[in-house]
Amino acid sequence: MSRQPRILGRYDGQEGGPLLLCLGGIHGNEPAGVHALQRVFEVLRKTQPKMRGTIVGLAGNLRALEAKTRYLDRDLNRAWLPDRVAQIATLEDGCAETLEQRELLDAMRNVVGTHHGEIYFLDLHTSSAEGEPFACIGDTIRNRKFARSFPVPVILGLEEQLEGALLEHLNNLGFITMGFEGGEHHSNSAVGFHEAAIWRALVGAGCLDDETLTETRHATAILKKSRGDLPQWLGIRYRHAITDEDNFQMRPGYRNFSQVSKGEIVADAPAQGEIKTYYRSRILLPLYQGKGNDGFFLALDVAPAWLTLSRWMRRMRLDRIVHWLPGVSRVKDEPGAIRVNLKVARWATVEIFHLLGFRKRRIHGDYFIVRRRKFDLKGPERTNL
Ligand SMILES: [Zn+2]
Repeated sequence: MSRQPRILGRYDGQEGGPLLLCLGGIHGNEPAGVHALQRVFEVLRKTQPKMRGTIVGLAGNLRALEAKTRYLDRDLNRAWLPDRVAQIATLEDGCAETLEQRELLDAMRNVVGTHHGEIYFLDLHTSSAEGEPFACIGDTIRNRKFARSFPVPVILGLEEQLEGALLEHLNNLGFITMGFEGGEHHSNSAVGFHEAAIWRALVGAGCLDDETLTETRHATAILKKSRGDLPQWLGIRYRHAITDEDNFQMRPGYRNFSQVSKGEIVADAPAQGEIKTYYRSRILLPLYQGKGNDGFFLALDVAPAWLTLSRWMRRMRLDRIVHWLPGVSRVKDEPGAIRVNLKVARWATVEIFHLLGFRKRRIHGDYFIVRRRKFDLKGPERTNL
């Protein structure tokens, strides 16, 4: 792929409204999102539909896209930690991805500028394993509402396992966010699934109506068909972390959503021996490429009743009184954070705090810390990048 421009396209509706940012290729070996954005802007240019708000398409890691590799020096999608972002304007570490991060952040700041109203962010990925497309969101009520416009499985909690993902950084700033996995890197269908996801995002954000274009109508059917009888909601329960020294080898034949049984040997690593699963679950993002620190993830179905219950509990703002319980206390100097002493609060699991809208922060031997998500029910007055 030749060097792409940072801004792949922009289309402004006749009426004001939300801003939808779509990013393709934050991983350089995942060009499908870039191609899909190019197709969408071509259709918008030709048909000039009536629209509310604005859509902007961005390319992620330009240097790595050109070199057709996930990244050159470090993973651009693990670099969005608040301290690093604060220093990025002046950071000189010789990394290609430091330049990429600075340029991408500048481009996003220019676009976001003084926009009033909701900002949506769609992050387009593909994976080294085959399988049906799916979406990932940080579990806020606002993200869930957006995700309902996408008839694909929606995964909760992936971001809790990854440090420094752009999606989570923007989520914490008040953007409504979604990651979309379009299938295997080189599959013919990935560009089409990404294109469908972008059209659905335009509808979900309120920029277009279902009936505006043939493309918006077809997008639902394309994604619905791909889902088949897979569950609508799943939660990540486990991440198998690896380092380059592990020589991790996934056993062949796993796809996204493959069912695994308890104790099934799914991978080998010379230092650790055979790697077995802990429980019956579905495998996600099994690693079949050289680069990356995530061997695989395990996910379980989430019951619709759990979603309803948690929405009710969050609207009631039960998080405000949770520190009245024995063994549960506020963390000094960390607003919104709660410390749970497992020796006292023997009933407590991270799951219970998920219901109340908390995100897992750290787990220690006999306690864990969770923090309430900031923009769960309502967005900020103004979104600053
Ligand atoms: Zn990716």
